Amino acid sequence: MSETPASETSGSETSGSEPAQAGTIAFLGLGHMGGPMAINLVRAGYSVTGFDPVPAALETARAHGITTADTAIEAVAGAAVVLTMLPSGKHLLDAYRGTGGQPGLLDIAPPGSLFLDCSTINVDEAREAADLAVAAGHRAVDAPVSGGVVGAEAGTLTFMVGALPEDFEAVKPLLEVMGKRVVHCGEHGAGQAAKICNNMILGVSMIAVSEAFVLGEKLGLTHQALFDVASAASGQCWALTTNCPVPGPVPTSPANRDYQPGFAGALMAKDLKLALNALESTGVAARLGPLASEIYDNFAAEGGAGRDFSGIITDIRDKSGH
Ligand code: NAD
Repeated sequence: MSETPASETSGSETSGSEPAQAGTIAFLGLGHMGGPMAINLVRAGYSVTGFDPVPAALETARAHGITTADTAIEAVAGAAVVLTMLPSGKHLLDAYRGTGGQPGLLDIAPPGSLFLDCSTINVDEAREAADLAVAAGHRAVDAPVSGGVVGAEAGTLTFMVGALPEDFEAVKPLLEVMGKRVVHCGEHGAGQAAKICNNMILGVSMIAVSEAFVLGEKLGLTHQALFDVASAASGQCWALTTNCPVPGPVPTSPANRDYQPGFAGALMAKDLKLALNALESTGVAARLGPLASEIYDNFAAEGGAGRDFSGIITDIRDKSGH
């Protein structure tokens, strides 16, 4: 993490709807998250040229006023900002560098373009992408999100940003269109670092809360009794009080709708793998993070990929002889 002090803004504190800078935004990756994020930029008055290899994604984008390009290269030529929302760091680095002898986005974009990556990727990959962008004469920002598809559609995402201070200021108005909370976490890679540290806490705490509920069941405790005590005591956490893994105490939690996500098990498994990679590359003597990664890998592989990650409680219960 850098020494840049963390700072935070709220989208509701600014107009958020004034285009911050002239020039087109090239938006690459119009999937579940990128599609609605790009639409919100257009609604706020930005000029967006989008590209995605999936034709249906392009069709939806066009229906919402996004200009679409036939290739990523075409989208990026002339863009002031290159915003990416891609599945992985490999997708990002391949796009930046180019593959199969084709030029990469860094070769094509006008000098000084701002490369803004909102995908969730390894911290090391984010730093490598930023180094490549800067070496090619551009500016780089990593800004992964939390808030899911619902937050992307509503423009209420949280952005965790790794950027030089002047680049943070430049992207802040754009991020405030797509999100309600924008936190400057430090320099390149710090946004990804904050995201995986937070999600490691979340993965571990959901397992702890779920194990406690199953233990409570075995001991004859009602869900409500455990909730009433723990939610107002030292066991209090988001996994318990917002995303409670048993139906009843928190009516809006995914447990009340058969674990429809929410935050899918596959995404928790992905984020914990990124945390595991960072734990290994930094040599942190962590035990629960790697274990949580293994537990969510199994959960995703055994039918939990498309279920909310709080469905882990059903695995624990099944393996507890209920
Ligand atoms: P998605 O698979 O729906 O979208 C990714 C899109 O990128 C796809 O449409 C794919 O065709 C496109 N793509 C792949 N290579 C491309 C390229 N070279 N150029 C342009 N487009 C390309 O995934 P998503 O759910 O939108 O997630 C995107 C990112 O956001 C991931 O890194 C994910 O971890 C992160 N994220 C997702 C959620 C969520 O709830 N879905 C929440 C937080 C963060």
